[in-house]
Amino acid sequence: MDEYVLKTRSLTKTYRNTVALDNVTITLKPGRIYGLIGHNGAGKTTFMRLIAGLTFPTSGEINLFGYTQTKHLQHARQRIGFMIEAPAINTSMSAKENLHLHRIIKGIPNEELEQELLALVGLQNTGKKKARNFSLGMKQRLGIALSLIGSPELLILDEPINGLDPVGIVDMRNLLQTLCAEKNITILLSSHNLSQLYQVATDYIIIDHGRIIETITLSELEEQCKQYVLLRTNQPELLVSTLEKELHTQKYLVMPDKSIRLFDFTDRMETLAALFQRENILITNLSIEGNTLENYYIDLVERSRNV
Ligand code: ATP
Repeated sequence: MDEYVLKTRSLTKTYRNTVALDNVTITLKPGRIYGLIGHNGAGKTTFMRLIAGLTFPTSGEINLFGYTQTKHLQHARQRIGFMIEAPAINTSMSAKENLHLHRIIKGIPNEELEQELLALVGLQNTGKKKARNFSLGMKQRLGIALSLIGSPELLILDEPINGLDPVGIVDMRNLLQTLCAEKNITILLSSHNLSQLYQVATDYIIIDHGRIIETITLSELEEQCKQYVLLRTNQPELLVSTLEKELHTQKYLVMPDKSIRLFDFTDRMETLAALFQRENILITNLSIEGNTLENYYIDLVERSRNV
């Protein structure tokens, strides 16, 4: 079955002379965490605002949980939660008071939900402390708690990790993964930094100048950015048998030009050099190769701009 939460077809948004979103066709499947990656002005917020119904498309179609017509879409949007641009927090209130207010506005009777959500985002011990005195990470987590009122099936978060310190980033990653794994919430979150979402998202959607230039799964991305030791020698057979016999590894590829890519021992170059010397294998190249995440992203954007 072709299961999906959201499908867009040729979604386009134009502001006077600016094409903020250009023919975006994507599908989000349930139970996954999607990272929407793009530079400032790439169109991430515009895309999220369109899905959340905060602005309207110039052309194209939004299909949310199978609904496409405007009146049905508004109803389907009750099944999504979002935090776009800034969290909808009243800073003169405590975390609990904020949750109480939003729960009442949304007409949700379950009072226990407030404590439950506070615990879920790790703010259960903040007591009467006003949100204005929260750290950025705490404010972001409160914003997420607010967007979880109503038990959304799709959560849309605009740059939730941006500006957080390393501890805040880890807390946020853990929270997002818990929401996806335990609450079965599909998540779409944006960032201008691919590496920032590397350990969070299961799928990456790369956007530039309003256009999707790549969609890639985490495992495909890992494959693209795999580091390896590039070995050249005029005795490739001997080198390969030495790798197997002495280092007990088969994680290598012999390339058509007879160079060898070793996907193991990338952090043990001395061990490799010493071994080849001991075995009298003449090496003409011993170097670490492979893309870093950032290089992969930069190359991708540059290639798409040169097409
Ligand atoms: P950032 O990370 O800086 O928020 P973004 O990827 O979210 O960037 P958008 O905010 O979606 O990008 O903006 C995409 C383009 O549309 C930009 O060129 C922006 O200037 C333009 N734009 C967005 N909103 C409006 C608006 N209300 N009026 C005019 N232009 C707009």
